[in-house]
Amino acid sequence: MSKKKTLPDINALVRRNILTMKPYSSARDEFKGEAEIYLDANENPYQSPYNRYPDPLQWNVKKELAAIKHIDPKQIFLGNGSDEAIDLLIRAFCEPNQDSILITEPTYGMYSVCAEVNAVNVQPVLLTPDFDIDLDAFPRTFDATTKIIFLCSPNNPTGNLLSRDKILEVLKRFYGLVVIDEAYIDFAKSKSFIDDLAKYPNLVVLQTFSKAWGLAGLRLGMCFASEDIISILNKIKYPYNVNIRTQELALDALENVRVMEDWVKEIIKQRTKLMKSLEKLSITERVFPSDSNFILVRVKDAPAAYQYLLENKIIVRDRSRVTLCYNCLRITVGTPEENDRLIKALEEL
Ligand SMILES: *Cc1c(COP(=O)(O)O)cnc(C)c1O
Repeated sequence: MSKKKTLPDINALVRRNILTMKPYSSARDEFKGEAEIYLDANENPYQSPYNRYPDPLQWNVKKELAAIKHIDPKQIFLGNGSDEAIDLLIRAFCEPNQDSILITEPTYGMYSVCAEVNAVNVQPVLLTPDFDIDLDAFPRTFDATTKIIFLCSPNNPTGNLLSRDKILEVLKRFYGLVVIDEAYIDFAKSKSFIDDLAKYPNLVVLQTFSKAWGLAGLRLGMCFASEDIISILNKIKYPYNVNIRTQELALDALENVRVMEDWVKEIIKQRTKLMKSLEKLSITERVFPSDSNFILVRVKDAPAAYQYLLENKIIVRDRSRVTLCYNCLRITVGTPEENDRLIKALEEL
């Protein structure tokens, strides 16, 4: 990997049209205080509170979240799932038909989907056979068009954390944005990269309410980065991207962190048990290590096992056509009863 000189300021990485554009200014942007009568946003005066537009910047949620994550609320962006943040990052920093993102393979599919929608080139680099970053392959792949490197840790669909030292190496040497997707970090032994934001102005950390927090149906994703990066995302997002109900329920969840922590403990306990049971099956070739709430397992014939489970009304993810994942199933850790039914079914295969 080439030696990085000085890090350019973030605005030098942003697409010019995004940097110079004037953002939409909503009624709720213009007036921020407390009033008694609101006649500024053409809302229906009945059916309170959902007759009102939500807070465009979700300050109540961000304040609570900031305290938990030990970060400034101004360094948080909230979106309609982390998928919104992925899309906005690509749109803000990558010029269509010109720039590229670098992804490791196999990984989460949304990075390349969002890139392709925006006519942004995708530069894939294969992970090592033990699913870690191949540092030697990076400099052969990225070039002057590479604006963002996406690293998913713990990685989906392999389940493991990427090596912290290698991620730091990428952060030190690459001049563009390094986005670390930590959707599964609550299930991992390693700490979040949020604590490293102060040191690396090109670092972006993604987390989500969809996994450990148990709120996939609400669609709420978190993005942590420098104030410069966050203000660019705020500039181009839809004005009211997170609805009132989602903000209320997220706040409830954040005020009861213990509930989430107890789920995580239980899921990790069940993960250990499920891995042991999977290892004993005659069809199992290899159970891969997991720092997430799912397990990647290589079996003798993954499509056949998938089909058999389907007939037993149990759905897992057949990942056998994914790079490096031949004959692999990705199995989410369920309740003890669900995991027992899965194992029982597989024992009878
Ligand atoms: C599940 C998942 C997400 C979550 O996406 P949301 O849009 O927040 O639901 C993000 N990244 C990875 C790698 C995931 O597996």
